[in-house]
Amino acid sequence: MTTFLITGGAGFIGSHLTEALAAGGGKVIAYDNLSTGKLKNLKAISKKKNFSFIKADILNEKMLGQAIKRVDTVFHLAAAVGVKYVIDNPFRTVEVNVLGTENVLRLCHRYKKKVILASSSEVYGKNESFPLKEEDDRVLGATNIIRWSYAATKAMDEFMALAYYREKKLPILIIRFFNICGPRQSGRYGMVVPRFIEQALKGKAITIYSDGKQTRSFTYIGDTIKCILALSTIRRAYGKVFNLGSREVVSIKELALKVKEIAGSNSPLVYIPYEKVYGRDFEDMRHRRPDIAKLEKYLGFSPRTRLREIIKSILCENKKL
Ligand code: UDP
Repeated sequence: MTTFLITGGAGFIGSHLTEALAAGGGKVIAYDNLSTGKLKNLKAISKKKNFSFIKADILNEKMLGQAIKRVDTVFHLAAAVGVKYVIDNPFRTVEVNVLGTENVLRLCHRYKKKVILASSSEVYGKNESFPLKEEDDRVLGATNIIRWSYAATKAMDEFMALAYYREKKLPILIIRFFNICGPRQSGRYGMVVPRFIEQALKGKAITIYSDGKQTRSFTYIGDTIKCILALSTIRRAYGKVFNLGSREVVSIKELALKVKEIAGSNSPLVYIPYEKVYGRDFEDMRHRRPDIAKLEKYLGFSPRTRLREIIKSILCENKKL
């Protein structure tokens, strides 16, 4: 039986991946320090025989090594994520994303395990090429702008992973996620979709930062998991970087209006300058859309779920709670 370790397994993406791997019949270990992940995300599979959970930090080398030793493949998703989280926890962000990932890669090399590394579209920074290709430049602001530290840590993770691949032949695969969303995502750390949905359902003002004309491509969690699983089985994909995202582009104002309409909410829209939310030293990228030609070439498919369906799936989850 194939065995898998998912770091960050109790998080939003991690818990969906853990469920899918367990449903596929593999033996699955979710590893999470529960700092932002939640045990309730794993409730549906908690009693399955092929599932186990380890509460530990990726900075804990001993525990991590023991876990990695037991599996064939590691999906490394544990990280400090969310613009708000990064700004509130600048030291922890660098520590977890750089030192933690270094631990994962070193131990995977020691025990000869495959690694799938979760990276982020943040690595492109302020590059607004439309769409963004994997080989495009990274354009990052000054170091006093804390937001960019996250982008720098993820780029460092990619450099480390690629170095392990080239010099030490460690099979690694890098996936850059573009605004993944869906049920279980928390709005606490800044993510716009769950925040708008919660505000709409509570009849509170929908908080649009800046002018709302900035655009993103929101990607459904179900599509994301299918792509991760399929890529991880393709031998030729190892040693490479892939964008994973949707082609549908939406402005943040359009997103707010869509959420309001689908939720049947009367919430007013309010515009808040970035400075009021994140302080003076903040920058955002105006546009971010992935080029997914490479993903499609390898998989023969790509994320297709429309934003409207994504919003409905989250509303549906909220009704059940
Ligand atoms: N945003 C917003 N209102 C919120 C939260 C976020 O207008 O309550 C904006 C944010 O400034 C950004 C976009 O929505 O322009 C996406 O933000 P998120 O933090 O979800 O992801 P990002 O793409 O910035 O990593």
